[in-house]
Amino acid sequence: MAAAARVLLVEDDELFRTELAEQLRAHEGYQVEEVGSMRAALERVREQLFDAIILDVGLPDGEGYDLCRRLRRQGVKAPILMLTARDGDADTILGLDSGANDYIAKPVRLGVLLARLRAQLRQFELSDDAVFTIGPYRFKPAAKMLLCDNGRKIHLTEKETAILKYLYRAGDRAVARSVLLDEVWGYNAGVTTHTLETHIYRLRQKIEPDASKPTILVTESGGYRLVR
Ligand code: CA
Repeated sequence: MAAAARVLLVEDDELFRTELAEQLRAHEGYQVEEVGSMRAALERVREQLFDAIILDVGLPDGEGYDLCRRLRRQGVKAPILMLTARDGDADTILGLDSGANDYIAKPVRLGVLLARLRAQLRQFELSDDAVFTIGPYRFKPAAKMLLCDNGRKIHLTEKETAILKYLYRAGDRAVARSVLLDEVWGYNAGVTTHTLETHIYRLRQKIEPDASKPTILVTESGGYRLVR
């Protein structure tokens, strides 16, 4: 991740949350968003992609485990670190079962949290080497390639790979054209939506069975969505 990692901090203890957020910004330069409830967290995640989520177990409107499960069901791929005041193996197992990547007991030692968060972010970045399923294809971002069942390979450009990666990470949500432009070309790149549309057009020629009727990379509510 070239840009500062975006971290969502979900914790209802305002004093602790504010302090932790400040530390994360100061030590690592992360962009930290703070929310205090399950509902607020679900709202923020619908609006924006985060690189990591730190989740308190005890929230006023539900259990962090439950929120974690719901986020995964919504297609959130980013690492989730759970915080809990309780200490015990049962909680750890519950946390990991719910789809969390790591589990940190309160009182939180900042050094430990920072190290674990760094490790998770690094692993998440490296997961580009992994293979993801998109429609009938296996997508290998690191190799900039889509593999078909019959062994045929579709080579992608760097931008096409970046577009697919970002759409994949967005899960079932549509990504607005402006967001995709900023994410793939960078802010202030001076690139217009026409450029994006041209890339989408070429990408569809490569991946859609019938590019005039997209079924994999579909247009939706001012943006694009990947049907996986
Ligand atoms: Ca709490």
